[in-house]
Amino acid sequence: MRSLHYLRLCAIKSILNRGFHCPSCGGKGGPAIDRKWLVTSFRRCNDCALLFRTPTTTEEENEKFYQSDYEESTTTDLPSNAELEALKKENFASLSTSYLGYIEVIRALGGKPGGRVVDFGCSWGYGSHQLQQAGFSVEAFEISKPRATYAREKLNIATVDQADIRPESCDVFLSGHVIEHVPSVENMIALGERALRPGGLFIAFTPNGSLALRARNPKGWHQSWGGVHPQLIDDVFTQRMSDRRAFIAATYPYPMEALRAWDGSPRLLPMEGHELMIAFRKPNV
Ligand SMILES: [Zn+2]
Repeated sequence: MRSLHYLRLCAIKSILNRGFHCPSCGGKGGPAIDRKWLVTSFRRCNDCALLFRTPTTTEEENEKFYQSDYEESTTTDLPSNAELEALKKENFASLSTSYLGYIEVIRALGGKPGGRVVDFGCSWGYGSHQLQQAGFSVEAFEISKPRATYAREKLNIATVDQADIRPESCDVFLSGHVIEHVPSVENMIALGERALRPGGLFIAFTPNGSLALRARNPKGWHQSWGGVHPQLIDDVFTQRMSDRRAFIAATYPYPMEALRAWDGSPRLLPMEGHELMIAFRKPNV
């Protein structure tokens, strides 16, 4: 959404010196490590180490954007009935946003078929459907009303409002390309932690913000933050988070053997891939 509206909003905020605090921890901000469009920059929070775009977006602006303005092929174009039937036949495998690879990672990290998964940010439900086909029981949340309705009505997905995700109700709290969009990363992680049963797995797939990827693909990295992605997760942020939760982080292509061997201690695997996976296990009490 490099729309004039977005840039105008950013310009106004820059002039007013608004929107420079970290959207996750509320910290005072941090040094700019990249710039774009004259009025926006990308910073590393001094407090929580999150990479975030300034000026930041308020929760209201975010909500409005996802209800009306958000367009990105696959995730927002709703298939016709005929298209849906064809996609179902191939288990949505040809979609660029297919969850089949995520399901392999969930299994490698110990998620078992039969377990309950919250699909947080399910779009129109294809991934929830793939999880069900793999034997998981799924509850799904989607901020966009038309997409949630499609998931519920066309694919029979049990969709819920965010407020109705029950504490200690799931074995896996999964999100595919969501954490880079949410108003507060810390709140989303806390929500996942609450929703998980003891021993449950928080797992998020997201564009990789790491400097290792920036070194390998500077242009792609520069393009990956902005209006649609107000923040990126990387190894530095993950390591800082590991003070409180023992994360494992890896990038695509995922090293399945290393994931299977994870003993629950903080673990950073090679960081050069374009997609990042971070996961932690809720402690057993
Ligand atoms: Zn912060």
